[in-house]
Amino acid sequence: MNQFALEPHPSPTGPAERAALVQAPTFGTVFADHMAAITWSAGGTGWHDRRITPYARLSLEPAAAVLHYAQEVFEGLKAYRWADGSIHTFRPDANAERFARSARRMALPELPVEDFIGSLEALVAVDQEWVPSQPGTSLYLRPFMFASEAFIGVRAAHEVSYFVIASPVGAYFKGGVAPVSIWVDQVFHRAGPGGTGAAKCGGNYAASLVAQEAAYQHGCEQVLFLDAMTSSTLEELGGMNVLVVMASGEVVTPPTSGTILEGVTRGSLLGLIRDRGREVVERPITLTELLDGIATGGVAEVFACGTAAVVTPVGRLAGETFDVTVGDGTPGELTMALYDELTGIQYGRVADRHGWTHRLV
Ligand SMILES: *Cc1c(COP(=O)(O)O)cnc(C)c1O
Repeated sequence: MNQFALEPHPSPTGPAERAALVQAPTFGTVFADHMAAITWSAGGTGWHDRRITPYARLSLEPAAAVLHYAQEVFEGLKAYRWADGSIHTFRPDANAERFARSARRMALPELPVEDFIGSLEALVAVDQEWVPSQPGTSLYLRPFMFASEAFIGVRAAHEVSYFVIASPVGAYFKGGVAPVSIWVDQVFHRAGPGGTGAAKCGGNYAASLVAQEAAYQHGCEQVLFLDAMTSSTLEELGGMNVLVVMASGEVVTPPTSGTILEGVTRGSLLGLIRDRGREVVERPITLTELLDGIATGGVAEVFACGTAAVVTPVGRLAGETFDVTVGDGTPGELTMALYDELTGIQYGRVADRHGWTHRLV
């Protein structure tokens, strides 16, 4: 395993201030004292200069390619503090492999899995006091890679930077799991065939923001995108996959055939659902079928899933021509059972049958 050189923060956050920040974190605004970094250079040098450095501003030339052509990918996973004080993450190999797939799609170099996991281990070892211990809290880990070369010609960059930053996050649902309202966008698409929908890249998010604005204007919290070819089948939310529980017990979800991001949470839940002896089918679901099912009772539950919110029940679906409540608008039974089971595994309260947890500290 490659070693990360440690450059300690000269004036780290004091224990009292850190404790206050870690106790009541607001998502995405507070960062641990350090970050991990690795640099890549073309011409045979490859990945080098593995280090843990103080969290600080980056110095980039205005010509840095990422600022012009968005050659960038990222990941998101969490470090969970267990009751015995140990710290674990969840399926980091799956994130590492997806990071490599995303990089390939964006013509970025593939970071080896052992460097991806090694960077998480090295960073969390140094900043372990930043992992909160309150129920439902965690340290969110954000690995990302971008074209740092100063060159405004159009080609894959010859110099690339990889970093991991860490941010303590509170329980996503403070007063218990609450259903969200979803705006089904029939104007904008997030991805098309042959595009970058399956890569976790910033550009997909940039392309989803106007639709997110439309959702807010219609009193909804999240957007559900439809396929770009026919605008008729469900794809996913801006940053979460979607699953539908039929009254028959069967669970259906759109197949990840290139335009949908293959969520680690999605894959894990499909496994847990199959473990329960339930049928899981990956197939296209039309909006018409979904709305008919909600109207007739054929659809029992709808939920979204992703690392940040784990499992999020969908209580309401609205679009230009409809506005419906799913079931009675409260979280469904399977939705909640899966939320409890998955978070139970992540926090070490439920037996990890699949070997998904990975000890960091
Ligand atoms: C990250 C992401 C997800 C969820 O993936 P997880 O690995 O479960 O966190 C779903 N959709 C999109 C577009 C994403 O970027």
